[in-house]
Amino acid sequence: MIEIYETIENCRICSSNKIKEVLDLGDQPPANSLYKANNVPHSVPLRLMYCQDCSTVQLGEDVDPEYLFSQYLWVTGTSNTAIEYSHEFTKKALSQIDEEIVQPYVVEIASNDGTFLKRFLENGSKVLGVDPAKNIAELANKNGVPTNANFFTVELAKQLVNDEGEVDIAIARNVIPHVKEIHSVIEGMRKLLKDSGTGIIEFHNAGLILDELHYDYIYHEHLFYFTLKTITGLIHQHNMHVYDIIQSPISGGSWVVYFSKIEKAKSQVLVDIELLEIEKDLNSYQRWIAFSDQVNQHAARLKEVVFQNNEKIPAYGASARSSTLLNFCGITSEHISIVLDKNPLKDGLMTAGSNIPIVSFEDGIKNIKNQKQILLLAWNFQDEIVKELREFDFKGEFIIPLPGDPYIL
Ligand SMILES: [Zn+2]
Repeated sequence: MIEIYETIENCRICSSNKIKEVLDLGDQPPANSLYKANNVPHSVPLRLMYCQDCSTVQLGEDVDPEYLFSQYLWVTGTSNTAIEYSHEFTKKALSQIDEEIVQPYVVEIASNDGTFLKRFLENGSKVLGVDPAKNIAELANKNGVPTNANFFTVELAKQLVNDEGEVDIAIARNVIPHVKEIHSVIEGMRKLLKDSGTGIIEFHNAGLILDELHYDYIYHEHLFYFTLKTITGLIHQHNMHVYDIIQSPISGGSWVVYFSKIEKAKSQVLVDIELLEIEKDLNSYQRWIAFSDQVNQHAARLKEVVFQNNEKIPAYGASARSSTLLNFCGITSEHISIVLDKNPLKDGLMTAGSNIPIVSFEDGIKNIKNQKQILLLAWNFQDEIVKELREFDFKGEFIIPLPGDPYIL
């Protein structure tokens, strides 16, 4: 069998060999490897490691990106929240640069279909997107957002600067924690930026994972779990300085940090959040060990709740997040009859590792009306889904696994 992953010996951020395991979620297939019945996916250890030198929390294994991302069958649609947020984001980003700059130059890494860059275009900026997914880059180009279909690296950054000059704003939203070649990407952002330019990184905040027990957010695509302190450390390694931060409404509270090559005064919000992280002890080994204990207790409790049913129950939401939850808790096709999911590309596939058939919403809804309970795997869309299933006459109870303790609704 070909090896599709490697185990790290050293921290990916600071190269220290003082890395210690804090949580073991067991061997799991990469979360998005939903599969057809006869094509069973590989399993890879899913473990969180803590670096005793720089405090960065990261996975112990990295999966070959070709294996990981070739499984990507679907594109996530752009939600209304994301569109509203893109307006706010653009306004705040443009307010960072000198007013005298008539046409700011903005580059976005992993720009996807160009939704965010489109806002900058509307505001008179010159833009360029970089995204390795050829079909998505093509779509963006068609929609008027010039997009380079490549992986962003320091070499590509140099080439872009040669071609079009340095940039005023360099953006990386929800991509930095996914990339193994993380130093090349951050150094590439430095290469892109003018001395007066602003870098912007958005990332899922590890504090939220700790506070609300989002262990289902841990899966192979997410290599790093940054706090403000650890992302600041990474940026500083590349001789740049974080000076401001805001919270984004995406995935229940990501952080957006602003940084520059020249050191600027820190905003009050930044200072406050730095202090809050110290107060909450988010960067200590002990805090992550405590999280690990909570996760194990949570899984035991959730199993109890699900397993007390005498017959199989349905579930809702075949996301990457639910994959971690099901596999870690050992909830499988022995306990769950079907998983409803609205994405037509998943219809007819099986959940990775837990082997549960995925069915379309239309087919599933007919079969679940008289069930006593349903496991709400997509708990982060709880209000919306509960309302919808009630409208379709589902009268049973919802098992809500997270955030915090599982409960029945
Ligand atoms: Zn380290």
